[in-house]
Amino acid sequence: MNDTVALITGAARGIGLATAALFNAEGRRIVMLDRDTDELTEAAATLPGALAITCDVSSPQQVAQAIAEVEQTYGRLDILVNNAGVADFGPLAETDFSRWRRVMETNLDGVFLMSQACLALLSARGGAIVNIASISGLRASTLRIAYGTSKAAVIHLTKQQAAELGEVGIRANCVCPGPVDTKLALAVHSPEIRAAYHDAIPLNRYGTEREIADVICFLASERASYVTGQVVASDGGFDATGVGLPALRG
Ligand code: NAD
Repeated sequence: MNDTVALITGAARGIGLATAALFNAEGRRIVMLDRDTDELTEAAATLPGALAITCDVSSPQQVAQAIAEVEQTYGRLDILVNNAGVADFGPLAETDFSRWRRVMETNLDGVFLMSQACLALLSARGGAIVNIASISGLRASTLRIAYGTSKAAVIHLTKQQAAELGEVGIRANCVCPGPVDTKLALAVHSPEIRAAYHDAIPLNRYGTEREIADVICFLASERASYVTGQVVASDGGFDATGVGLPALRG
């Protein structure tokens, strides 16, 4: 296990950092990618031996450079976690094309570009891709015109990857987190949204970064060696329930 290399995008904080820490504790070598150099440098300093690379996953040139650096440093890649994401909650009428593109270029283009760039390294020994979508990709909701659509596309992209890459020994799975108190969520979850989530979630609370990281690391590991093309919601039961839970609780 100690030779294996796991690359995590958006690893400077939040779910990505928790995932990097867990892989690190498992004894894997880790590559942390993020476009925020300062936060990335600080985060990587807490994880011994981590390779930190500043990279915007929406830039084909930066992605190619980053993967060339991974190849030069380690000569292999076993796990890719496409976690980098941005959230922007707004209605259709107010989502102009630049807002739409800002969400799509990271959440969807980034997953496509990173997966494609890592293909040769991953297929050399067989590997695993874990893409991070969201419960907003599993069901439609107000204000998620761009974010929800980007995440639904990531769910389908995962299935496309599983269908195509199984024969070269690459598994692809998707994790859909429910709400987690990260910088991303704090920026878009108003008090009303927070109350609504508590109401709608059977476990009646937000998840933690570590609870999402545990599912990501399981899907990436040998313990999930016969699992591919799957979408796992780590969401306190949110996706399992429909209309009426708050009323029934009352
Ligand atoms: P976060 O904002 O704490 O961390 C995201 C990281 O990604 C940041 O370090 C940021 O700099 C980086 N990043 C953003 N765009 C990038 C780009 N183009 N290139 C490289 N790095 C980039 O967010 P988080 O809550 O930890 O989110 C992680 C993933 O989980 C995202 O894909 C998000 O959509 C998803 N998610 C989060 C929640 C939640 O409630 N927090 C819920 C569902 C899904």
